[in-house]
Amino acid sequence: MAQETAKQADRSVSAIAGTTRLLGVMGDPVAHSLSPVMHNRAIAALGVDCVYVPLPVAAANLAAAIAGLGAIGALGFNVTIPHKQAIAPLLADLTPEARAVGAVNTVWRDGDRWCGTNTDVAGFLAPLQALAPPGGDWAGATAIVLGSGGAARAAIAGCRQLGVGRIRVAGRNGDRLAALAAQFQPPNPLAVSLETGDWDALAGWASETALLVNATPVGMHPQVAAAPVAPDILAALPSGAIAYDLIYTPRPTRFLQAAAAAGLTAIDGTEMLVQQGAAALSLWLGQPAPADLMRSALLAALARSGR
Ligand code: NAP
Repeated sequence: MAQETAKQADRSVSAIAGTTRLLGVMGDPVAHSLSPVMHNRAIAALGVDCVYVPLPVAAANLAAAIAGLGAIGALGFNVTIPHKQAIAPLLADLTPEARAVGAVNTVWRDGDRWCGTNTDVAGFLAPLQALAPPGGDWAGATAIVLGSGGAARAAIAGCRQLGVGRIRVAGRNGDRLAALAAQFQPPNPLAVSLETGDWDALAGWASETALLVNATPVGMHPQVAAAPVAPDILAALPSGAIAYDLIYTPRPTRFLQAAAAAGLTAIDGTEMLVQQGAAALSLWLGQPAPADLMRSALLAALARSGR
């Protein structure tokens, strides 16, 4: 598998020509990103004349970098930490998803304008669409999202699009929780009423919960022994409930190990990462992206990294 991935990457590099269009991921730092591996594998398989590279850009240079990418005719780019929110006012237009989440992870060209969207919402939703909650119906279901950062906002927008009946958010910072709840009020295009609470609220909420989403970094490599909730919270979830950890290193996290031990359906963040990437590539190229190849490239890169 590693050999095959290297061959695909070589093909994509040797195919660079005077006509090759630029794609990339803009962040600081960005050297650790697995997006180039995923995207270049898909680009090689599709035979399109593009290359996807890391774009290290310091916050002070963000506006200049966007203008520069416009000047050289780049096709589009992903945006990661720390620019996901700061880039929004620098773009000509935003989709309802980007407005709802308050962050942009994908930028594409509309003529000479840069437009932003947030494909984390589609990525978050992808693995849930094949599943049913206990009771069989998302409208009658309650979800809890742990955390109040960017991934939590994408998860809330995703739950809203899925039609989840009640969305609860647990966070450790009351001011940030209040700001998040206020952000999801009208005129947010994906406005939704949220119930918020601190970590102590979880014990009372657990038995009503069909979907528990970890949108904090607790348990992420290298802090692999940590978990965002104690096993007794997971054990109190109803039969058939889903535990969804947005983290993809390690696989599985301590949270998902405890969820599996409690008999819950466990989903990690790999598919979200694959599907947000596939949605971005499909937007840039105007054709379906080979998500299966992107997944195998990602999994091979994760295996090589030992994370
Ligand atoms: P973020 O914006 O920094 O938000 C992190 C949130 O977690 C904040 O609400 C933070 O609380 C909370 N938090 C951090 N440490 C905590 C702790 N010890 N106890 C309780 N809460 C804690 O980060 P993000 O971009 O949302 O990312 C969150 C996670 O999602 C990361 O692990 C990231 O890798 C993952 N993610 C995965 C994907 C994917 O494609 N699979 C995409 C995006 C993100 P405070 O506000 O109080 O600091």
